Amino acid sequence: MSKKRDYYEVLGVSKDASQQDIKSAYRKLALKYHPDRNPDDATAEEKFKEAAEAYEVLSDENKKAQYDRFGHEGMKGNFGGGMNMDDIFSQFGDIFGSAFGGSFGGSRSGNRVVKGSNLRVKMKLTLEEIATGVKKKIKVNKLVQAEGVTFKSCTTCKGSGRISSVTQTFLGAMQTQTACHVCQGAGQVIDQKPADTDAYGLRKQEEVVEVEIPAGVEDEMQLSLRGKGNAGPFNGVNGDLIVVIEEAEHAELKRENENIHFEAVISLSEAVLGASIEIPTLGGKAKIKIDAGTQSGKVLRLKGKGLPNIQGYGTGDLLVHIHVWTPTNLSAEEKSWFEKQLNNPHFKPNESEKEGGFFRRIRDYFS
Ligand SMILES: [Zn+2]
Repeated sequence: MSKKRDYYEVLGVSKDASQQDIKSAYRKLALKYHPDRNPDDATAEEKFKEAAEAYEVLSDENKKAQYDRFGHEGMKGNFGGGMNMDDIFSQFGDIFGSAFGGSFGGSRSGNRVVKGSNLRVKMKLTLEEIATGVKKKIKVNKLVQAEGVTFKSCTTCKGSGRISSVTQTFLGAMQTQTACHVCQGAGQVIDQKPADTDAYGLRKQEEVVEVEIPAGVEDEMQLSLRGKGNAGPFNGVNGDLIVVIEEAEHAELKRENENIHFEAVISLSEAVLGASIEIPTLGGKAKIKIDAGTQSGKVLRLKGKGLPNIQGYGTGDLLVHIHVWTPTNLSAEEKSWFEKQLNNPHFKPNESEKEGGFFRRIRDYFS
């Protein structure tokens, strides 16, 4: 597969371009590479499709945010088969107004394919599932076309899917074409249908869909599975199934992008003498060594024990934050032992250790 160009690059706009800028950039490209103006030019058609796809994403705040965060990888599933011409022309009403939308569409052979509505489902995933990626089967209740539905040509538009009308504009009389309101541009309507279906001959049916979740997804991320949504009316195409990721909170580990944090509390004796402690990881448990003389606030980094980056840029780390537990319920005898250490120079904070170690580590971590 050839490398996909950046959507901003395709439209020639900057990352902070306004919706108006994005729209007008697309409008220019769509006019330039429109198939009507470039008959039998495969390169123009490719450019036309590329621009339409970029616009489809960047004009939608949700998809744009997803693309900004995850790049093309985040859009996986959205454009599995690329955008087809029907998808592109259905964008046009929005861009060029209905006067142009109709006339552009009108030169194509055949009728418009009506797309079914999208279905949205939430999917809760544990951090462990996110770490490895997971295949899940989900039940969806979707509209499907019932058996026994038959179609006939639409009488309103005589099967063309379009209705022409002449309107007066400041440029003079203009013939405009709009999609037929009866058949939604399909050119055909229902002839016969079973009684238990809706006006379009569709009925709800439970279906099991297998969803493959890539490793590294984040809360609120949306994956769309093309064609797995509701059936389209009038023999149309299916809508999409949109899976919204929900990240379940982990009992002990906290996520920060690709890194995972764990707060480890050790005893004063362990901090002084050193110890081996067990910590939770995404895959299970791990033993880590605490050096003798470890200061509270120390951060131990376990390389590669975090989450994989969704775009494949490596794996995060597991950061273990060490906290030393100060005892609070000492016996009189233990208390008197500590009192004796008040003037013990070994118990005084060491300035050089302060400068070279503990505080610098904290500074480094937060800077
Ligand atoms: Zn019609």
